Amino acid sequence: MILIDPEKCTGCGTCVPYCTVGAIEVEDGLAIVDPHRCTDCYVCIRNQVCPSKAMGPGPLETFYDVFRHVLSDPTETTADTGVPGRGTEEAKTNDVTGRFGKNEAGFAIDMGRPGVGVRMKDVETVAKAVIKAGLKLEDAAHSPLGKVLDITTGEMDPGIKDHYLLSIIIEGKCPLEKMRDVLKALREVEDKIDTVFSVGLILRTDENGYNPYLSVLEEFGIKPIRGKVNVGLGRPLVP
Ligand code: SF4
Ligand code: SF4
Repeated sequence: MILIDPEKCTGCGTCVPYCTVGAIEVEDGLAIVDPHRCTDCYVCIRNQVCPSKAMGPGPLETFYDVFRHVLSDPTETTADTGVPGRGTEEAKTNDVTGRFGKNEAGFAIDMGRPGVGVRMKDVETVAKAVIKAGLKLEDAAHSPLGKVLDITTGEMDPGIKDHYLLSIIIEGKCPLEKMRDVLKALREVEDKIDTVFSVGLILRTDENGYNPYLSVLEEFGIKPIRGKVNVGLGRPLVP
């Protein structure tokens, strides 16, 4: 958690709107950081928003503290945890990895974005729902979530459940026939959590950019936006 030096803080409030998750308040002329809300994203200190230099990073004492910080600060290296960012590598490099096959649907469920943040126990709730619906999650070698969650059950490591992160991605894939079940599970679970999520769907298309399963989205009232198109210029490791 960010620490405020009470000797230096003037209570000016400059830092308040910079906090990505609304964790700072000014009370009785002093900035107060909510320890249960601060993600250790370091936006406030990285941008040196405090004119009095009263803000500084608190200690990251446990693996879970480091995990929270690394997942919330995009400028951080992954050396401490060995986790590769928030977990989008597979979707972006399918040309080379061939991770998503022709008869599979990939999901990247971006928890806490945009701009809200996420309590890890809410990640557990969503992970359990989609696993039950047939989504096979990426393992710890490919997704940071696998470091703190049993990918076969969705059970979360108790040590991380109450931590608040800026965002984390639940990433996995399922046979195309299960895509409808996963979307249904997401619709059902969205009212049971106290945050937002966006869903990235990864589908392989024919040469005309078509996949018949795109029409499944219409059943859920979802108009797809093609955010990223992987055009197939890489050299596949997997045919
Ligand atoms: S910007 Fe600095 S001095 Fe002003 S309220 Fe925040 S911590 Fe205190
Ligand atoms: S580190 Fe991030 S979450 Fe914590 S007080 Fe600063 S901006 Fe807010």
